[in-house]
Amino acid sequence: MTRRAAIYCRISQDRGGAGLGVARQEEDCRALSARKGWDVVAVHTDNDVSAYSGAPRPAWQELMEDVRNGTVDAVVCWHVDRLTRSPRELEDVIDLADRYGLELATVSGEIDLATPTGRMIARMLGAAARHEAEHKAERQQRQRRQAAEAGKVAGGGKRPFGYEDDRVTVREDEAEVIREGARRVLAGESLASICRDWQKRGITTVAGIPWKPSALRRMLASARISGRREHTPRSSWEKTRPLLGEIVADAIWPGILSHEDSDRLRALLSDPERRRRVEGTTRRSYLLSGILRCAKPKADGTPCGYGMVGRPRAGVPRYVCPNTPGTDACAGTATNAEKTDEHVRDMILTALDSPTLRKRLQRPDDEDSGLYEEIRADEEELEELARDFGNRKISRKEWMIARQPVEERLERNRAKLSKTSRTAVLLAFVGSYEDMRERWEKMNHSQRRAIVTATVRAIEVAPANPRKRWDPDRFIFDWIA
Ligand SMILES: [Zn+2]
Repeated sequence: MTRRAAIYCRISQDRGGAGLGVARQEEDCRALSARKGWDVVAVHTDNDVSAYSGAPRPAWQELMEDVRNGTVDAVVCWHVDRLTRSPRELEDVIDLADRYGLELATVSGEIDLATPTGRMIARMLGAAARHEAEHKAERQQRQRRQAAEAGKVAGGGKRPFGYEDDRVTVREDEAEVIREGARRVLAGESLASICRDWQKRGITTVAGIPWKPSALRRMLASARISGRREHTPRSSWEKTRPLLGEIVADAIWPGILSHEDSDRLRALLSDPERRRRVEGTTRRSYLLSGILRCAKPKADGTPCGYGMVGRPRAGVPRYVCPNTPGTDACAGTATNAEKTDEHVRDMILTALDSPTLRKRLQRPDDEDSGLYEEIRADEEELEELARDFGNRKISRKEWMIARQPVEERLERNRAKLSKTSRTAVLLAFVGSYEDMRERWEKMNHSQRRAIVTATVRAIEVAPANPRKRWDPDRFIFDWIA
């Protein structure tokens, strides 16, 4: 009986070296099938970059399904290590060989799973491949970490923005752009708004393309631009490289930003709360959408509370409680946008003009400076733990367990630090009423919004009184104390 064979290929990076491209795998497997006189009825290909990623392998599942359904009774692959990723998977295959008479052929050598010797060989080959892959991963990780600790230049790819091709010499024109970006982000402006401005001014990335918020975020959050070396262990990757690695050493290249500014940016840009607050609003052309809340009482007497949005009527910009199907917004409140914006501006500038507030802003924040130290200490501890793991002083499991509380505390502290940067937003803005008014007029929407959200949590808007044309008493400010 002619065997119906399925070819299984897997693309991965756990074994470099020639001949493992997927086309080559399939070609070799087809040739082997032909030699054995098997009909190739299916080719299954999985793409996973790491043997340990644990990512699902859909093609592998299909293959196992084919074997169980009896549509396939032989499997051809390049090497046992292409076929299975773990001893358990190999045992599954051996099991199927027993139950369904599945035959296995590999280009790299004959394996007869029907015999004890064949199984032993398969198990040994699988174990050897895994050992090699584990070793290689560890070796690479150690090398990267050592290079990182030496503050060496990480090779590969294009030059980093702000530096020449040698990756060490500062490019002054780009450094100035970085400083400007940092200043604006720290002042509460959204990444999208900065990118739009840079696009207008023709400022591009190293690749010559316009800056996107994601790229700008990564660049400004990198420790590199503060002259520090950052290390991101492979084990901490999920799908993409995490925004923040561990700062492991001063680099051999000079910094463009101070360590303090860099720490602030890193805390700010990694704060999910900020993304919601600042970036989530960039498309809005209405200053106060989402900040204004509808205060019209519902049937049970509690306020509607829905975030008001910009909706012009007859060409007049207005904020309204939206009439959106599927929500419980009451659609019962509306206010003229221009007048509301002016009223809110005047209220906020008046509040910021108060001596009490200015005093509070200028009070040195002890807690803030302690945060930096705590963050630095935790980063160092993580680094030490990673080193202990690298030197095999502790097991992988011990490493994972030990880093968890440190990472959690680090995350909390970074979030706190980013809150203090709201104070920084205001510090850069406050002055006499006239000064602030002048600054306000020069600001774009995103910058103004940063001032508003640093000052008030929300503004409640009561329904209009039909007898009054403009009634400032409709607005109740929830000030951030
Ligand atoms: Zn409402």
